[in-house]
Amino acid sequence: MMRVISAARLVTCDDELGTVEDAALVVGADGRIAWIGAHAALPAPFRDAPAPRDQAPLVTPGLIDAHTHAVWAGSRHAEYAVRMAGGDYVAIANAGGGIVSTHKAVAEASEHDLVDSLGARLRRMAALGVTTVEVKSGYGLTPELELKQLRAIASAASRTDLPRVVPTFLALHALPPGCADAERHVEQMCGLVAEVAARKLARFVDAYVDEHAFSVAQARKLGEAAAKAGLGVRLHVGQFSDVGGAELAAELGAKSADHLEHLGEGGARAMARARVAAGLLPTAAFTLGQKPPDVAMLRRAGVAMVVASDSNPGTAPTESLPLAMAIGVRSFGLTPQEALLGVTRHAAGSLDLSGGGVLRVGAPADLVLWDLPHEIALVQPWGTPRARLVLRDGAAIGH
Ligand SMILES: [Zn+2]
Repeated sequence: MMRVISAARLVTCDDELGTVEDAALVVGADGRIAWIGAHAALPAPFRDAPAPRDQAPLVTPGLIDAHTHAVWAGSRHAEYAVRMAGGDYVAIANAGGGIVSTHKAVAEASEHDLVDSLGARLRRMAALGVTTVEVKSGYGLTPELELKQLRAIASAASRTDLPRVVPTFLALHALPPGCADAERHVEQMCGLVAEVAARKLARFVDAYVDEHAFSVAQARKLGEAAAKAGLGVRLHVGQFSDVGGAELAAELGAKSADHLEHLGEGGARAMARARVAAGLLPTAAFTLGQKPPDVAMLRRAGVAMVVASDSNPGTAPTESLPLAMAIGVRSFGLTPQEALLGVTRHAAGSLDLSGGGVLRVGAPADLVLWDLPHEIALVQPWGTPRARLVLRDGAAIGH
């Protein structure tokens, strides 16, 4: 069904921010954008068509959350209290909290429950203006349970009433409880990549490269398995220490290296040369009370910056991408424009979504009508959902 939208201000994110005042946008019956421009120039066939009409002070592309761990079970509220009392990530992991506690909850949950809770989470994300969500597995830790998580993601991905889903096989997240042989675990997970690709259960693989996680050499093996299977690579890099993950991301042609609180100039330059996006996760740094990544250095190096929620039950206990944008501006020093491009055009680029993250004729009509006067108001005020209407492929989602 065709739909005609009027906006006092429309931000295309296509050419830098690309703003149009007193704008109109027409969604075609095919769910793609048929026309954009000044309202006064709206061609007569669209102006006079008997189509639903909507209006809003502000229209932007649908937001894209390019880094989440949104398929989980259980709750880690008890661990949060320990963390706030001064227990660090390593102490929590050693006490049986952290990733392993979510692993246990995921192991006990039925696949049906995982699908249900993921679907509910995605619906709430849509209500915040999010139309695409990258979702990682990674709490399974064994081949059987990773496949269970990936099937749950695929089930949510098949629904058109939720944000579109980009699935990632987070193959190297932590060792399963009782596993003392890291090399064997890496071999086992690398051995699963071909099957995951053949069953179309993921578009990317991911590994957590850090001092207390997996090494560059281990993650390289995974990257090589992904290349063979035709899957892209994203990496968790430099959250607690710089062990060379950014350079590895560049070497593997990864689409994105995320966290980056610890990153050297050489790593930033390598990312820029290989066009690896920087996935900034302000909510996680906020929860952990960390010093922000060196945004000025990333800017200088010319690295595309993406902002994502990192939605997970431990270190980023939120589903809100707008909250991540707001903290990104307040704590990381991003400009509001950088934060918006980081959840639209640059996020789409990091997920290989052609035509995503921008408002352009022919692109999917993924867009948000906001009850806000200006795009800067996406990051101030914050904390309250202000999306009036959220469209994916021209159809309303998130209600
Ligand atoms: Zn993550």
